[in-house]
Amino acid sequence: MKKRRNNRRKRVNINKQKLYGKIGMVVLVVLLVVLMMYQCVWKKTETSHLNLDASEPQIDVQLLDINEYSRPGTASDPITGIVIHYTANPGSTAQNNRDYFNGLQDGHGDYISSHFVVGMEGEIVQCVPTWEIAYASNSRNHDTVSIECCHPDETGKFTKETYISIVRLTAYLCEKYQLTEKDVIRHYDVTGKNCPKYFVEHEDAWQTFLADVAAALEADENKKGQ
Ligand SMILES: [Zn+2]
Repeated sequence: MKKRRNNRRKRVNINKQKLYGKIGMVVLVVLLVVLMMYQCVWKKTETSHLNLDASEPQIDVQLLDINEYSRPGTASDPITGIVIHYTANPGSTAQNNRDYFNGLQDGHGDYISSHFVVGMEGEIVQCVPTWEIAYASNSRNHDTVSIECCHPDETGKFTKETYISIVRLTAYLCEKYQLTEKDVIRHYDVTGKNCPKYFVEHEDAWQTFLADVAAALEADENKKGQ
């Protein structure tokens, strides 16, 4: 009689152990899910604390001549994205790149241009009106605005002045076309090309850039609320 009771107690103990084990597993899984959600949803990428907004930056408008190779004069579809590029030509200025695009009309056989070029001093030159297509982003030429960015060396890293102007111009264009930072992409995201090099090779820097654009857009929203 006593033996049977002991057996039962042992069995109850074993069942309890199993139950605790299961509860432990469930708690662990729940904790893991919460942690993953926190990382995906709530953890915001650090911004560069630049205090920028989405107001219109100074733009030096120097439209290209209408020509087959760099400004076909074709109307764009409604703009659904902004595409960031790098010139892949270290040390060249915004003016150099604009003049190169305009020179293509003499027929070098290349079809290349960009709506905007941002220089190493932060200067912004506009080459093509935003309602016309430019030849920069392949299959997305028809519905995006392109920004070419100058850089001093082979790393493709932008100067602080360039960076600030790209954030401001991108935020301004997002506001103009009612887009968000989620609509801002790299040339790489269209074709897999290593462009803009620094933002392709440093995903964290790209995420910080997008966070800076978001912060600039938010700063503008807050201003409107006042
Ligand atoms: Zn590109």
